[in-house]
Amino acid sequence: MTLRLFITADLEAGAQLALCKEQAHYLANVMRAKTGEAVLVFNGRDGEWAGSLTHVAKNAVTLAVDSQTRPQAPEPDLWLVAAPIKKDCIDLVAEKASELGASALWPVFTRRTVTSRVNTERLSAHMMEAAEQCERLTVPQLLEPAPLDKALAGWDPARTLLFLDESGSGAPIAQVLADVPHGPLAVLVGPEGGFAPEERTMLAKLPFARPVSLGPRILRAETAAIAALAIVQAIRGDWSRGPRN
Ligand code: SAH
Repeated sequence: MTLRLFITADLEAGAQLALCKEQAHYLANVMRAKTGEAVLVFNGRDGEWAGSLTHVAKNAVTLAVDSQTRPQAPEPDLWLVAAPIKKDCIDLVAEKASELGASALWPVFTRRTVTSRVNTERLSAHMMEAAEQCERLTVPQLLEPAPLDKALAGWDPARTLLFLDESGSGAPIAQVLADVPHGPLAVLVGPEGGFAPEERTMLAKLPFARPVSLGPRILRAETAAIAALAIVQAIRGDWSRGPRN
């Protein structure tokens, strides 16, 4: 499989780029890439480009950009707002959110959130790696972790918040989306301990928040997040995946 890399530099035919130290290390020492090897690169702005590695050393790799393989295309505006959970589980959520086309991941601290710190660097790395592998043209944004009430206080009311409510007060996502106008969306998932009653009461008062149910079983937070994103994408997602040039 062709190596696919996210880079921050502008992409255009003939560009010569030096990769950052971490990427160079990964390519040279983990992937054992060779000079001359073909790569695909994307930066979230200029589409996807084919190129090749022009020099591979232990901590320094350069590449030459050749021609565009896919133009940049709009992607669904779908955030995942998630209470931090155990390390392995939040790592899984970050990876799957990227694969399932979330445009942003926003860690929010709820009453029953046990985890007090979010390793944003590690989560970003997981999302980037997943984006490289799943052939997205962007990497989801990681928004600054914040307390839930703060996140809601500054919420853009145009972004419908599908609040995953394990108490069963909500309707199925398909039903809720049927009467929500097309536009930005977010999915909110609670921590291992669920939402506190006062959080549910607060959410119920917000005009942009809609409780949704994922069925009669109580899912683990990571399952709920992944299932909800998949359902939203199945209903509202963009199915056209243009062929490579
Ligand atoms: N400990 C809690 C469960 C928390 S599950 C309890 O026993 O009630 C973690 C999160 O996953 C919940 O806060 C909710 O956002 C989501 N979730 C789990 N099952 C769900 C379901 N059936 N419908 C909607 N959301 C669900």
